[in-house]
Amino acid sequence: MDEDNIYRRCVSCNELRPRTDLIKITFNRALNELRVSPDSKFVGRSVYICKNDSCVSAAFRKSKIYKYLRIKSDNNLEEKIRAVLRD
Ligand SMILES: [Zn+2]
Repeated sequence: MDEDNIYRRCVSCNELRPRTDLIKITFNRALNELRVSPDSKFVGRSVYICKNDSCVSAAFRKSKIYKYLRIKSDNNLEEKIRAVLRD
């Protein structure tokens, strides 16, 4: 399967984009673990965000991202996402 052809919707701007243009955040309820850019073996409820500051900021407004992931807020999550943006 060609990964480049997989489109996902950004939780912030609602645009469909190639998977590779988005950051994936996944929460695995069984492990009670949240991961940014997990490998394909880590499954769970996921959200996608465009790799830009405005979409990352918007995802955290009104705790939107936590509502989508159905988790309590995580103080480190925004910083982890921004660290991926800087890579
Ligand atoms: Zn976006």
